[in-house]
Amino acid sequence: EGLSTVIIGRPNVGKSSLLNQLVHESKAIVTNVPGTTRDVIEEYVNVQGVPLRLVDTAGIRDTEDLVEKIGVSRSKEILKTAELVLLLINSHEELTDEDRMLFQLIGTTPAIILLNKADLPLNTSVDEVKNLAGSNPILRTSMTDDRGLEELEQAIASLF
Ligand code: GDP
Ligand code: MG
Repeated sequence: EGLSTVIIGRPNVGKSSLLNQLVHESKAIVTNVPGTTRDVIEEYVNVQGVPLRLVDTAGIRDTEDLVEKIGVSRSKEILKTAELVLLLINSHEELTDEDRMLFQLIGTTPAIILLNKADLPLNTSVDEVKNLAGSNPILRTSMTDDRGLEELEQAIASLF
């Protein structure tokens, strides 16, 4: 049981690092090699009284894969079951079409947008993210220095 919470984002944005931070353990393998997470990983965690079933999705490798192969349908399938989406953006990079597509896939599911890698210089257009995010909250986070994790836990707790 637990609220189905799906972590999405391009490869290497920090999805598995986030899962590990939230469960306070190294459950998912983190490397700097895109495509490290091949299987879907599930972990149960209680965030400020809210029980979550966290799902770490495998990164989808490029736009061609995303559009022409199984990427979109797989993401959509997983997202159909989501009660909460955590969408990670690498804020050290400019937005890509894959990022923009992931915003579209969220649909009406409650989502929290994480501008991750906040320990590095900001290269993402925050204005564009705000437009894409609509009313969903946007947080600056870093998985390497724990920045924003407290705020994330509070944001999750305040949604449910
Ligand atoms: P995933 O592919 O989205 O699951 O990303 P990972 O969690 O495997 O992380 C990919 C790489 O980015 C690893 O080398 C992480 O250590 C690094 N990383 C993740 N989060 C951050 C962050 O907030 N700041 C920095 N500087 N590196 C990060
Ligand atoms: Mg991963």
